Amino acid sequence: MTFGFSKQRRRRQLQAKPFPAAWRSIITRNVPIFRRLSRADQIELLGHVQVFLAEKHFEGCGGLELTDEIRITIAAQACLLLLHRRTDYYPQLTSILVYPSSYMAHEVRPIETHIWSEGDEARLGHTGRRLGSLVLAWDDVRRGAANPGDGRNLVLHEFAHQLDFEDYTTDGAPALATKAEYQSWARVMNREFAALRVAAEAGIPTVLDIYGAENPAEFFAVVTEAFFERPYALRARHPELYSEFSRFFRQDPVQYFAERAT
Ligand SMILES: [Zn+2]
Repeated sequence: MTFGFSKQRRRRQLQAKPFPAAWRSIITRNVPIFRRLSRADQIELLGHVQVFLAEKHFEGCGGLELTDEIRITIAAQACLLLLHRRTDYYPQLTSILVYPSSYMAHEVRPIETHIWSEGDEARLGHTGRRLGSLVLAWDDVRRGAANPGDGRNLVLHEFAHQLDFEDYTTDGAPALATKAEYQSWARVMNREFAALRVAAEAGIPTVLDIYGAENPAEFFAVVTEAFFERPYALRARHPELYSEFSRFFRQDPVQYFAERAT
C-alpha cells in the first residue's frame, strides 16, 4: 500500500511539472489530433506524457538514434487512450523498441511466442502480453500520426492491445467496471465482429479495416483506431460499437472533432 501511495504521489508530481515548450511544439506539429482536444484534455494529456516518459524505457533499434521527437510523438498518442480514465499507465509494458522503418523491423525482429506479428509490412508493430515490450517502426508511427482521419494509427493500435492485456486475457475486452458492462460489451462486440468477418469475406468495404476480422483482439485494436480517427463514420454506421467504446474510453471524439475541427 505504501508503495502504491508513493507511486501515486510521484506521478502527481510528474503530471504537475512544467511541460517543456519544445516538447509541446513537437506534439502540436506531429500529432494533429492533439490540437482538436479541449484545453483541459490537452493539459491532462501532457501530464500523462510526463509520467509515461519517466516510467517507460525507450530503445532505438536497427541503427535508429532516439530523439525527443520520437519519444514524444509516441508518448502523446499512447496517452490519448488514457484520458479521463483511472489508469496505471500500461502496467505490463516496460520497454518500447523503435526501428527506423517497417522494413528494418521486419528483417531483424525475431518472432517469439506471444508476439503479435502484424502481417502487413506497411503497418508493422508488435506487442505481446507476456513480453513487457512493444515494437514500433518510426516511419509508420509518424505516418499514422500525421493522418489523423484515415482510421489507421499504429501507436493507437499497439497500445489498444496493451489495454486488452490489462484484464489478463487477450480477448478483445479491456478491463471493464461491472458485469453488466462486460455483458453489453460482449453482445455488441460479438455481433460486430461477426459482421466484419462476413464483410471481409464478401469483399464489402467497411469503416473498419478488415484486418480486424482476424480475431477479437485485432478487432478491438482496429475499432480503437477508427474510434479516434473516423468517429463520425463509426458512429453513423456502427452506433452501438461507438457507444461501447465511448463508455470505455470516457471520450466522445465526435464532439471534439466537431468543436475544434481544423
Ligand atoms: Zn494488432
